[in-house]
Parts: sequence; structure tokens; C-alpha cells
Amino acid sequence: MTKENFHFFELSPSEFQEVLTRNGFPKFRAPQIRRWVFSRKTVSFDEMTDISKQDRANLTNLFGRTVFSGNLVAETTSDDGTKKILIEWPDGHRVEAVLLRDERDHRTGCISTQVGCAMGCRFCASGLDGFVRNLSRGEILEQIVRLNTLLEEPLRLTHLVIMGTGEPTLNLGALLPALAEATSSDGLDIGNRRVTISTVGVPGGIDKMTAADLPYKLAVSLHAADDATRTQIIPQNRFFGIKAILAAAERYFQKTGRRVTFEYILIAGVNDSAADARRLADLLNRKTAIVNVIPYNPVPELPWKTPSSRATVAFVRALEGAGVQVKVRFRKGDGINAACGQLRRSYRPPA
Ligand code: SAH
Repeated sequence: MTKENFHFFELSPSEFQEVLTRNGFPKFRAPQIRRWVFSRKTVSFDEMTDISKQDRANLTNLFGRTVFSGNLVAETTSDDGTKKILIEWPDGHRVEAVLLRDERDHRTGCISTQVGCAMGCRFCASGLDGFVRNLSRGEILEQIVRLNTLLEEPLRLTHLVIMGTGEPTLNLGALLPALAEATSSDGLDIGNRRVTISTVGVPGGIDKMTAADLPYKLAVSLHAADDATRTQIIPQNRFFGIKAILAAAERYFQKTGRRVTFEYILIAGVNDSAADARRLADLLNRKTAIVNVIPYNPVPELPWKTPSSRATVAFVRALEGAGVQVKVRFRKGDGINAACGQLRRSYRPPA
């Protein structure tokens, strides 16, 4: 038995098979273990009871006691059932992941792709401390498996949104292999069409997704209908501009046939006027665009405010009146800092 320290989720299915074969395990062990982890939600080797005691000990020796590489350092639940977890990796950096449930019985995992974020959106808690590093494929997959494991039997995750901390198009190299496992029938078997990747709107990143012909949904964080307003809240916008982003989104639609969702957080006095709604309606292709209106979730350190529900309704009506398809997403998990980098910030390691 080699004394190596493997991380289970860093290995592709064939690499895992190869490591086990090289270490003298029978061929059927690899798929058997994967079933325990992905279908039976068992993460500790010692609990995989149809594996011989000797093999369980050998697996623990190779991979550690469980398949996880991080530690769970906080878990919170809000009144509406939203659960949030904070995971600490061996290098001491932390990420958060959220489990959201709704009345349609969707069980949605929201995961992070980076530690911190380089985008610096002015309204967002995730970027306040800047960018630290990309997450690995294993760290991304581990978040998904941990959220799935939080669900009581026999429930499983039904949806995934890549809307936690980080800009996913800048870490596709790790994200895509993790999503492949999350959606494969011998992984977590989440439907491809139930995975949404949200981007701040990097045209080159969107084009990369178009070229890869991914089976996933694309959401673009538009948040404003003119460049001056957008650059005020998303400084990165000055490099691209709304026109280039919309053109890239249109190419995604043309290639994949999947409608693009435009996220629009409503911030009081910034982007929530009737004129904003009109400009937004004029900007978008009414046939293919879907607008997801999200009342801003206040961040204690930041000055931005949520509009009244009356202003929110007026904005939505104006869009609908102009023929735009709109969804409204009300905030979940307020009581537990569930939005956007807030939990990570509330647990700061000592300086
Ligand atoms: N970087 C990607 C994905 C992570 S952010 C992106 O920008 O899309 C996921 C979504 O949450 C984005 O639409 C982001 O703008 C939004 N968001 C960030 N902070 C928020 C807050 N305080 N309230 C509401 N939405 C927020």
C-alpha cells in the first residue's frame, strides 16, 4: 500500500479506478465506493459496510477517514429552511455554500467557484476582501456533495446554481469537471438543464461557454440598462460594456438554443426607476431574454438599499407591460447571512 494522500473528489472516475487498481483493490471497488458517496450519501469509508474491513482500512489510509478534504466550520438554518455551510480547506481558506428549498420542491445547491472574487462589484460582500485563489475541481464538487448530504433521505439535490462567491467563467477549468460529475448518472445525476452558471458578464468567458457547447443554462448579472449606471456598480463593465455582453449572450442562444436569463438586482435609487425598466426592455431581445428581478439583499458594510415592495412590483409590471418575460426572486435566508459572501465575512479568522 503506497502512503499517498489522495483527495477523492480531485480524481476523475478513471483516475480513481486507476489509483485503486494500482493499490491492489478489486476492480469493482471503485464504482462501489462511488455509489456509496454519490447515491447513498455515505462519506466515511468505515461506514461502507459491504466493503471488507481490510479494504476499508486501506481506503482510510489512502484517502483519510472521509472523502472530504475540508472541514465544516459552521452550519446555519433559517426559518424558511435555507441552510448555509462554511467549509475550511487545509490551507485555512473558507468558502460558503447554500441549500435552498422552495414550494415547488426544488432543492437547489448554490456553490462557490473561488475564494474571494476579483470582480469588485460595489454592492457585493464577496469581493470586499478581494480575490484569494481559484477553487479546485474537488473543492467545487465537495460543496455539492456536502449540500446533497444535508438533505434527509430519500431527497437529493434537484438544481444547482453557480452563484456563490467567485466568477465562474474565470475558473471553468475546475468548474466543468466538477459539474460533469454532478450531472453524470454515476455521479449525483442532477439534470444538465437544472444547472445554471451565473456570470458577471465577461464576453470572452461567455464565448468560451458557447464554444464548449455546454448543456447548462446561462445567467448574466446585468443589473443595469445603461453603461454609466452599470459601471458605477460593476466597475469591470468599463472594459466590456453592455452591448458586447448582450452580443455574447445572443451568440450563446444562437448556438445552444437555450434562453439566457438576465439577473437584475434592484437597488433603491440606483437602477429601479420606470425609465430603467423602459431602457432594459428596449435593450433586450424580448423573444429570447428572461429577466430575473432580485430585490437587493443589504450588506451591513455597504450603503445600498432595497427598494420598497411597491417599487419592485412597479418595476416588474413596467417590464412585463413592455413584453419582457420576468421572474421575481425574493430573498431567502436573510436571517443567516445567506446572501453572497456574508457568512464567510462574519467568521473572520483571527488576524
Ligand atoms: N460572479 C458571478 C456569480 C456570483 S454572484 C456573477 O456575478 O453572476 C451571483 C449573483 O448574486 C450575481 O447576480 C450577483 O450580482 C448577485 N449579488 C451579489 N451580491 C448581492 C446582494 N447583496 N444582493 C442580491 N444579489 C447579489
